[in-house]
Amino acid sequence: MVTENKPETAKPENVETKLEKGIAMVPQEKKVEIVREPTAMDLWEPRTELGKRVKSGEINDISQVIEYGTRIMEPEIVDFLVSELGSEFLLIGQAKGKFGGGRRRIFKQTQKKTKAGNKPHFTAMAVVGNDNGYVGVGTGSSKETLPARQKALRMAKLNISQISRGCGAWECGCGEPHSLPFKVKGRCGSVRVELLPAPKGVGLCVDKDIKKLMKLAGIKDVWSKTYGQTKSKINFVNACKNALEKTISTRTNKDQEKQIKFG
Ligand SMILES: [Zn+2]
Repeated sequence: MVTENKPETAKPENVETKLEKGIAMVPQEKKVEIVREPTAMDLWEPRTELGKRVKSGEINDISQVIEYGTRIMEPEIVDFLVSELGSEFLLIGQAKGKFGGGRRRIFKQTQKKTKAGNKPHFTAMAVVGNDNGYVGVGTGSSKETLPARQKALRMAKLNISQISRGCGAWECGCGEPHSLPFKVKGRCGSVRVELLPAPKGVGLCVDKDIKKLMKLAGIKDVWSKTYGQTKSKINFVNACKNALEKTISTRTNKDQEKQIKFG
């Protein structure tokens, strides 16, 4: 009985080991494919000088790119350098017609009248930021909705810029960069915006879409005043971006910077 059992058990073992080898070969090949997939950034072939310097590791911080002075022409540069880059689409358009109508959408739809009929055109607006002082706004338009989104996101990445934060409200002396360092004004079209530093706990006292912009810029408390036609959303957002950029472009001396404790 014992001698008979041994060869019987031995044969299936061989078969099993062959099968195991066969199975083991297949996942190894698959694993290599899986490793290749997430490294999409490795497949990026930079076409500009700035892109090549970023890819090679010569430039490893976004502030160096801004100092370098050239325009960013490839959105991958921003993806490569800014970690935890968040993005949001702003509600700049509205749905037409029945059921109450006017529901806000991320696409602003316009139409051109031609002999062939109405030719629709879509515009989208995107905001990108890392919640920590870098923010960008961009618009994109196309005959279809999806390319408009992609273009908007691309333009937002290309237009990324640094803003400075601080604790500029006299009610609050914490010195953390939770608000603006001082009052700033911005404009675009007829829209005029004033952004005022607020003490801790106030929150974002701004329009819903501007809240998205402020959050991605890393500002937690702000008061605002607006003048002009703020219903034209694209101008309103650009006016706020314009105001935020003035936190960097305004001249300040070292004493003031110490007082405000820039972040
Ligand atoms: Zn404070």
